[in-house]
Amino acid sequence: MLYDVVVLAYGAESDRKLGVPGEELVGVHAAREFVWWYNGHPDQVNLQPDLQSSDTAVVLGQGNVALDCARILLRSTEELATTDIAEHALVQLRESRIRRVVLVGRRGPVQAACTAKELREIMGIKGLSVKVRACDLALSPADLEEMKASRSHKRVYELLVKAAGSKLPVHNGSGGRELLFVFYRNPAEILSSDDGARVAGVKLEKTVLQGEKDKPQRAVGTGEFEEVSCGLVLKSIGYKSIPIPGLTFDHRQGLVPNSKGRVLRSVEEGSSFVAGLFVVGWLKRGPTGIIGTNLIDADETVESIVEDWTSGGLGSQSSSCPPGSRGLQELLEERCISIVTFDDWLKIHSAEVALGSEKGKPQEKIICREEMLSIAKQVSSQTP
Ligand code: NAP
Repeated sequence: MLYDVVVLAYGAESDRKLGVPGEELVGVHAAREFVWWYNGHPDQVNLQPDLQSSDTAVVLGQGNVALDCARILLRSTEELATTDIAEHALVQLRESRIRRVVLVGRRGPVQAACTAKELREIMGIKGLSVKVRACDLALSPADLEEMKASRSHKRVYELLVKAAGSKLPVHNGSGGRELLFVFYRNPAEILSSDDGARVAGVKLEKTVLQGEKDKPQRAVGTGEFEEVSCGLVLKSIGYKSIPIPGLTFDHRQGLVPNSKGRVLRSVEEGSSFVAGLFVVGWLKRGPTGIIGTNLIDADETVESIVEDWTSGGLGSQSSSCPPGSRGLQELLEERCISIVTFDDWLKIHSAEVALGSEKGKPQEKIICREEMLSIAKQVSSQTP
């Protein structure tokens, strides 16, 4: 044994599936793939999202990731050029025909998953017309109750009301940019072009909200459908963690079953713990929340570790000390696995900052793994 305690903190790097026909068509991507593409993640550098076939993109979901994607599609490339966006994405966005993004939510404006700060930011994009249909803003008694219970939802709703009253000109095919929020619509099918080769639109089912008192309202289909034409669909319905071999995994919820961060042997209720194994973050409680949420969440796991340590429930503390990182390094060397240390990462980061400064950007992402590794190595050989 190398350590007394291991904390799993590898997050969520896959996506929830919609489970509707057409999900695999060319031109349909998970929002995560699109985010990785514009952030220069080596695995998505070649995504080639279709920014040419149509002037409209549909984003399914209305969380902050959906807003991030819409912002990249709608912001001027002159402004994007001063950010750390990856160069290949900037080049393709400069040629983009997309002028209109439709953000689709299966519930109403009171249940929109985005937060006020991010919504305000997108509403502040110069020349962007943010539209909400007035009929979607009507409030039911249950909505009023939800808003009373959540200041954050109330703020988002108020901003959407403001957007609905905005007088900025709408998209008319002449270069103006538009973000349209569509509520009460559940994706039923992704539609293909006549030759079946690629996406041509989405079919949406109108919904109404239902729910018991004190429970979140659910979207229920009405059997009435409508279609929106588009050339690009981004599914932004949430991330999903992936299991690793040998680890118990709750496939339904997409997380590691745990109690206050202590990893459980199985998903069954009353299961015992795996001594010394803990979990934090999205892998622990699912893919929601910002850095602040994860800090509070990590506190709980640390408390569990301290409790187990003080009660004598952890591995080898009474005998000799496990070898820790020294032992791990030896094991990795034995298996010929090279590692990137934090210092190596700092060297790559410095190289990215230097590349960015030549272009007036905070940094320019290096998108090739071999190049990153060679920078880490080169610089290391120069340092004592
Ligand atoms: P999210 O906030 O959970 O939003 C997911 C969206 O997808 C919701 O609108 C949800 O609607 C919808 N959805 C889920 N399943 C669906 C289905 N089967 N059909 C149709 N719609 C479906 O997830 P996220 O946007 O991926 O963000 C993840 C977390 O990262 C969030 O906590 C977010 O705040 C955070 N984040 C923060 C920032 C920032 O602070 N700048 C940036 C990015 C992400 P329902 O509500 O009806 O389920």
